Amino acid sequence: MDKQAILRQVAQVEEQMGELYKELGGLKERIVELLEENTRLLMENQHLKELQEENEESVASCPQEEKKTNQKQLDKKGKGYNNLAQLYEEGFHICNVHYGRIRSEGDCLFCIAFLNKSTKEY
Ligand SMILES: [Zn+2]
Repeated sequence: MDKQAILRQVAQVEEQMGELYKELGGLKERIVELLEENTRLLMENQHLKELQEENEESVASCPQEEKKTNQKQLDKKGKGYNNLAQLYEEGFHICNVHYGRIRSEGDCLFCIAFLNKSTKEY
């Protein structure tokens, strides 16, 4: 048995594992970036949808329809609120301070304040 050859092989595998470990770290960072970007896009998309719907309804509404429209808007805002609450539950910031980033340290007071404020509005 060539002991030197075995040692060389172990050293080689160790080096390869180090490289793989570095690569894995890079991939993990990239995944976090993509998840955060995705969350920001979801939030922006939802915000734009709400603006568009408000716009369409204010153009279309006449006085007797107004009550219905208001109820519809409340329903939609409630849905928007649920989407935000769900994103928060999934572990993302929905506050303006850390907008769309992954929550790595438990609850965020800014997010909770934002959710509480939104509950009062709807
Ligand atoms: Zn937050």
